[in-house]
Amino acid sequence: MSRKQAEPRLVQCYLCRHRFDISRKAMTVSCPACHKPLLVQDVIVKTLQAVKKLQTCGTLTVQKKGRVIADLVEAHGGINVSGTLHAKVVNGSRVRILRTANWKGDCNASSIQIESGATVEGGMFQVPDRSLGVEDLIETA
Ligand SMILES: [Zn+2]
Repeated sequence: MSRKQAEPRLVQCYLCRHRFDISRKAMTVSCPACHKPLLVQDVIVKTLQAVKKLQTCGTLTVQKKGRVIADLVEAHGGINVSGTLHAKVVNGSRVRILRTANWKGDCNASSIQIESGATVEGGMFQVPDRSLGVEDLIETA
C-alpha cells in the first residue's frame, strides 16, 4: 500500500458544506456535522438514471449509453459526460462535455471543456464559478 492510500481523504459535505477526513476505502459516510449519509465514491452511469438529485464527493462519469435526467447534479471531483445529461443545475468542479455527449441544463463549474461534436441544447453556463469551493479537494491521478 502506498503512502497516499493510507492517508485520509478530505471531503466536503454537499448538504451542509462541512469538511472532514474520511478513509480512502470508504464508500459511504455520514457527515459528522449534519449526520446525513453522503456518497463519496466515483459514480459511473451506464444506463438511464432518472433521479431528483445525483450528488457525490467523487467524480461523475456518464458513459456513451448512459443518461442522467435529474434536477440537480453535483460532483466535487469533476464531471465527464459522453452520454446524455439533462439536469436543471449541474455543479461540478471541472466539467468535460465529450464529443458524443448530449447536454441540456445549467452548468456551474470552475472550468469547462467542450469537445467539438458535442451537442449542447441549452442552459445557462457560469464558468468559472468557484462557489462550490472544492477545487483544492481535487486529486489529480
Ligand atoms: Zn453535512
